[in-house]
Amino acid sequence: MTLPTENVGSMPRPARLQEAIAAYDKEDISHDDLSKQQDAACKDTIERMEATGAPIVSDGEQRASSFATYPITDTLAGTGLADHLAADGQYFAIFDDGHHRQLPRLTGGPFRYKTFASDYLKKSKPYATKPMKQAVIAPSMLCLLYPLDDNIDGYTREQFLADLCDEAEKDIRQAFDAGAARVSIDFTEGRLANKNDPRNPWTGRHMLEQFIELNNRVIDRFSAEERTNIGIHTCPGGDMDSVHSAEVDYAELLPSMFQMNAGYFLMQLASEKDKEYVYKLVGEHSREDANGVAQVCFIGVINPLDPTVETAEQVEHDLVTASRHIPKERLGATDDCGFSPFSIDNKPKHGSPDLARDIAFQKIAARVEGVQRASEKLGL
Ligand SMILES: [Zn+2]
Repeated sequence: MTLPTENVGSMPRPARLQEAIAAYDKEDISHDDLSKQQDAACKDTIERMEATGAPIVSDGEQRASSFATYPITDTLAGTGLADHLAADGQYFAIFDDGHHRQLPRLTGGPFRYKTFASDYLKKSKPYATKPMKQAVIAPSMLCLLYPLDDNIDGYTREQFLADLCDEAEKDIRQAFDAGAARVSIDFTEGRLANKNDPRNPWTGRHMLEQFIELNNRVIDRFSAEERTNIGIHTCPGGDMDSVHSAEVDYAELLPSMFQMNAGYFLMQLASEKDKEYVYKLVGEHSREDANGVAQVCFIGVINPLDPTVETAEQVEHDLVTASRHIPKERLGATDDCGFSPFSIDNKPKHGSPDLARDIAFQKIAARVEGVQRASEKLGL
């Protein structure tokens, strides 16, 4: 037996793929040309992730515009934007290095996903020999598509949220139907909801409880058995090697976060200043029985924003320390975040996206080896 271990989802897109996306936006290449590059990047990602020894793999989201916008736009520049959306929505996040990411704005209803995560998974699955996971976006992120204060004529916020929950449920079910062994829900807006950044109004509206309630509206549609394999990912962001909410105390998030009835949690922790403080919070607030499932806590042992590769010894040390606060039957290991949640990401601290890819696979290999060592040490 070893502790469970799993990545969050994304990998840096090769420079070649990022160039192809830009060329597609300029209409210099066809969608077919872009698809070929995406297929090649997914195949390469899966093969290299399998070679790390990871027990479960992903395609690195090489076809997605971003972890958050894949259901509604083909590229971050807005090519292939879904119906009833305009490009000028609110900021999702302003990062510490000053760059920001913006969401589209809903202009009418009904709200529908144009792409489901399963559309990607179906194409990538044939490349894998190991079980695959699929990440999906939380409804709590996409609820920010609706204007913060105004109402949309003819399409109330309530109607929108009902449609959104239906689409989010479909996204998860279809991923399982397409063969995903596990589905994790990206919830990076959770920590950001306590930031109170005056430049980004929604972060000062105390929306965390609404987010939790909205996500549970979807999660509670699944049986306890299904929820064993439905996870939640939390982090302070991870884009262009920068973060958006690392200064928010986990104590403001975790008691609420564990109220979601998910079976497992993928939590940024490697880059925390005081890891043991957070392990303790996780031990205190995670639940043995979340409406029929025990919540398994995957702690982050790898920092995707730092080019220095962690050692297996460090990973082992973190897990053994965490096991003093979190029961080992409910302990696992993950990376702090996806390695590139947005498709266009030059990974400045790494020097280039291609170099960042090489480093990412080395980091995953260190995680896998560290998990092995910790499992032996813990007598599993
Ligand atoms: Zn993340």
